[in-house]
Amino acid sequence: SMQIIENLKSEIKKAGLEDHAEVQLTGCFGFCAKGPIVKVYPDNVFYVQVKPEDAEEIVQEHILNHRVVERLLFEEPALDNKKVERHDEMSFYKKQSRVALRNCGHINPENIDEYIGNDGYLALGKCISEMSPKDVISEVKASGLRGRGGAGFPTGVKWESTSQTPPCQKYVVCNADEGDPGAFMDRSVLEGDPHSVLEAMAICGYAIGSDTGYIYIRAEYPLAIERLKVAIAQAQESGVLGNNILGTDFNFNIELKYGAGAFVCGEGTALMHSIEGKRGEPRMKTYSSSKRGLWQSPTCLNNVETFANIPAILNKGASWFNSYGTEDSPGTKVFALGGKVNNVGLVEVPMGTTLREIVYEIGGGIPDNREFKAVQTGGPSGGCISAKNLDTPIDFKSLSSIGSMMGSGGMLVLDDSDCMVNIAKFFLEFTVEESCGKCTPCRIGNKRLLELLTKICDGKGCEQDLVDLKDLATTIKTTSLCGLGKCAPNPVLSTLEYFYDEYEAHVKEKK
Ligand code: SF4
Repeated sequence: SMQIIENLKSEIKKAGLEDHAEVQLTGCFGFCAKGPIVKVYPDNVFYVQVKPEDAEEIVQEHILNHRVVERLLFEEPALDNKKVERHDEMSFYKKQSRVALRNCGHINPENIDEYIGNDGYLALGKCISEMSPKDVISEVKASGLRGRGGAGFPTGVKWESTSQTPPCQKYVVCNADEGDPGAFMDRSVLEGDPHSVLEAMAICGYAIGSDTGYIYIRAEYPLAIERLKVAIAQAQESGVLGNNILGTDFNFNIELKYGAGAFVCGEGTALMHSIEGKRGEPRMKTYSSSKRGLWQSPTCLNNVETFANIPAILNKGASWFNSYGTEDSPGTKVFALGGKVNNVGLVEVPMGTTLREIVYEIGGGIPDNREFKAVQTGGPSGGCISAKNLDTPIDFKSLSSIGSMMGSGGMLVLDDSDCMVNIAKFFLEFTVEESCGKCTPCRIGNKRLLELLTKICDGKGCEQDLVDLKDLATTIKTTSLCGLGKCAPNPVLSTLEYFYDEYEAHVKEKK
């Protein structure tokens, strides 16, 4: 991509178009299957799978000779016979509604002016100058926004509860410790639109009475870290972060804290332990974090995607936001669509969109005309959904009613060549590796569960093993201390429910 940018710049210079055309770097467009992508404004036209040597043709044919109408209307191919399409007419984007990802692929994330030019920091200004902290919380509550990190707790209620503690040092924490294999929603927001998160955190600080925010981010996200650093420095310089924001007496500062890659540090209490410099282990939730969180102080913890929705809600209003989605789950949700699907990428859809629409209309179906078998949602803690539930609308309630979960947004499509027992084993191997070891059901139970699964996959299992598998998985689910242990058996339990025949086949094949 960087080479494409360089080549486009030099072709523009060669064509003498420097005063008429400009090349801008953006964050991710979400259409991973077709990257690298070049979008030409104001035509709103997409060139996909671009190679550095294509720069000359784009500049000469599109920009200089303006041969875009022929290419669009008459489907005249370009760049090695690839179709040129308008952004909003592409099947991958048609059914999407971008709220959290509104600026990703649209603005230069390293330039605060582009963010401001797209209504950036308008919501913060409006909150500070026109709204009381209570008004801000009422608006967020009325939007019905639920936490996008997995638990789905109402964001406004969390803010209200933190605001109602007596005046003292309070904290705003952003969970950017995205750890599910194959999930990159938060990374994309931070790389493509870091200011939206900074602005939302400052709004949260104003609403709950806090002057300090932390972003806990995986050290494995170097580009996101770099862009956050640039964004924080630019926001401070522009007076929208730091002391006396926009000339008022409201102060809010943000510091980055780096996670060392432990999956469990995405759990709220472990994350706060880690920020405090302690071992990243969960603790019993005697108090909610809104009452006693970081350093025992009231803390408002939300994830990246949740925050990214906030400025749009305050700019456009709660009723605009909840015109998307369902009554149970208003708004949109970002998913990392991967696995056996043609259009791999990041998609943002209104809650209530069905799995079938995502897999077949946005995702373009299964490659090589193979049969769809299942979709795994919620990452390693989620469950597998079979073809009979493909018309399930995606929202918090519906997904949990069929044994899966929203999670943070991983969505893995599987076809008829995949063995569901092996898939369950794959995810369990991950959670066993990532268990912090603090409580027995997770530390030992999941290990025994994995041994049983391995025995079955190796063709050495018996009927009784299937009974034991279900018993043990249910016990671990009900007795583990934190979400990691409680959800680790989900892939096993859901595949046992929907794909029992595959377990039986392994047992019957006994060697
Ligand atoms: Fe640690 Fe697992 Fe217990 Fe959570 S459930 S505290 S990850 S051992």
